[in-house]
Amino acid sequence: MKHLCKICSGSTHQLVDPLLKVVYDVCDTCDFIYKQAAYHVSKEREHHEYNQHNNTFESTGYVNIFKHLINDFILPLKITGKGLDYGSGPGPVLKTLLMREGYEMFDYDPFYNDNVDYLNHTYDFITSTEVIEHFSDPLKEVKHLVSLLKKGGRLILMTQFRSMDEHAFLNWYYRRDVTHISFYRLKTFQYLETVFDLEIVKTNYKNIIVYKAN
Ligand SMILES: [Zn+2]
Repeated sequence: MKHLCKICSGSTHQLVDPLLKVVYDVCDTCDFIYKQAAYHVSKEREHHEYNQHNNTFESTGYVNIFKHLINDFILPLKITGKGLDYGSGPGPVLKTLLMREGYEMFDYDPFYNDNVDYLNHTYDFITSTEVIEHFSDPLKEVKHLVSLLKKGGRLILMTQFRSMDEHAFLNWYYRRDVTHISFYRLKTFQYLETVFDLEIVKTNYKNIIVYKAN
């Protein structure tokens, strides 16, 4: 069965992984790739997978990724004020590092910090790192994040861009994490600009994109 793109509602074609027997919908318009819902894992399995990750201060590599994000993408934007780290994980490492930089920080994570107090605020910036590839309804989730931004606020997303062709996609390590279901390309992020009145102000074309809310 053919599905419409979860992001732009455009037509899609199927991409089959013959080895893992998983089927993806590839958008013909915005290049978004979505693992078909029948192949998503349960919430319990998802939580179990997250518990296997060593996303804490004990992991130097993990901490360094965030230091790079802060030094090269967040501090140069000269953002002031209140921030939200959405999908902050068990750490929450990025939130803590940003508090050390003087930011007033909130965080939310459906598995590790299911506290909806964050809904009572609007933010000068929102970070969501290694989260959007887990979104089962990415358009709805991004809309939610944008709704929490102040005018002129920044949305900072980190996920590995699908920069390769479909054949290479099937060999891509990032796809092998069973909880990764949504894969974006630059074109997908450009489409989101038009839908939510966002502007891409910085990207490394690899795994980080910074939007400004107009
Ligand atoms: Zn699309």
